Amino acid sequence: MLASTMPRPILATIHTAALRHNLARCRAQVADSRLWAIVKANAYGHGIERAFEGLRAADGFALLDLDEAQRVRDLGWRGPILLLEGVFELRDLELCSRLDLWHTVHCNEQIDMLASHKTNVPHRVFLKMNSGMNRLGFTPERYRSAWTRLNALPQVDEISLITHFSDADGERGVASQMGVFGSVTRDLPGERSVCNSAAVLRHSEFGSDWVRPGIAIYGSAPDSPQNSARDWDLQPAMTLAARIIATQDLVPGDSVGYGSTFVADHAMRIGIVACGYADGYPRVCPSGTPVLIDGLRGCTMGRVSMDMLVVDLTALPQAGFGSEVTLWGRASNAAVLSIDEVAQGAGTVGYELMCALAPRVPVLVEA
Ligand SMILES: *Cc1c(COP(=O)(O)O)cnc(C)c1O
Repeated sequence: MLASTMPRPILATIHTAALRHNLARCRAQVADSRLWAIVKANAYGHGIERAFEGLRAADGFALLDLDEAQRVRDLGWRGPILLLEGVFELRDLELCSRLDLWHTVHCNEQIDMLASHKTNVPHRVFLKMNSGMNRLGFTPERYRSAWTRLNALPQVDEISLITHFSDADGERGVASQMGVFGSVTRDLPGERSVCNSAAVLRHSEFGSDWVRPGIAIYGSAPDSPQNSARDWDLQPAMTLAARIIATQDLVPGDSVGYGSTFVADHAMRIGIVACGYADGYPRVCPSGTPVLIDGLRGCTMGRVSMDMLVVDLTALPQAGFGSEVTLWGRASNAAVLSIDEVAQGAGTVGYELMCALAPRVPVLVEA
């Protein structure tokens, strides 16, 4: 799976079929909803251009950067594109008009900008309610007056209603936020959009007109470790793999890597892997973080360094120089190591790991 011309034997693979599968999984949860594929942060590190083919069955693409919106249009996408944070300054609205972008309106400053925007084509906007997350949006008390103000603008065409959940993945759930959103918007016209991945999977009864799955389409469980990607039937859309470029034999008392944090208490054979934190593998992953070595489960040992990390080969006598080490994703033998397991070792979430794939890692798109 690693091309022989690579200067360093490390490769990320984007699995088009997995993206397609995960998107279909989300769609099956909320059959009556239209589905935004969230492709912010360069498609969660996968690359918008690389992920596009796997996601083109979406009903729209949602993102943050105008630059990313331009890239989606450049790919030939003529359908809806939504700016999840809306515009940041007045001149952004010109690009919205030119690229036909739908945009979130979450604050009065954005309404002011719209009021002074000169356009012949009114914009489709998504009016955001702060229903409890206290990040973006109008409070329930101010929401209806914002709607009235927007509705009076000639620059505005259709107004849709949007909010975002803080706890769709956890115990608190979405009932309280849904209650607030539902009661304030009850008699307002317009389409609704409330569900992120966790809500699509766990609270699909709130699907409404548009859902907004991100992490699930990339094959990571939004509520890991309570549920795994496999529990939700999601497939990894990104594999990070490298090869073993050296081996060492240790005797008891030998230490491994910077800081000598790992000390062998028995004879061991170890493999040095061409992947380090400069490739996006978290330095904070402790000894014992899982990997797949030639598709078999193994683990890391010692500190992750910039360009290399170390794995234990003691129980894998057939593995050695050139062996494939899968840091996350799918091995050549089809075994899977979820990015969520590695994230747990690093004390973080799959989102952060996939977004942090380093630019120096070559990427292959698999059909
Ligand atoms: C990022 C984002 C999403 C997607 O969240 P996931 O947890 O990745 O599904 C949905 N809605 C908004 C407003 C977002 O910013």
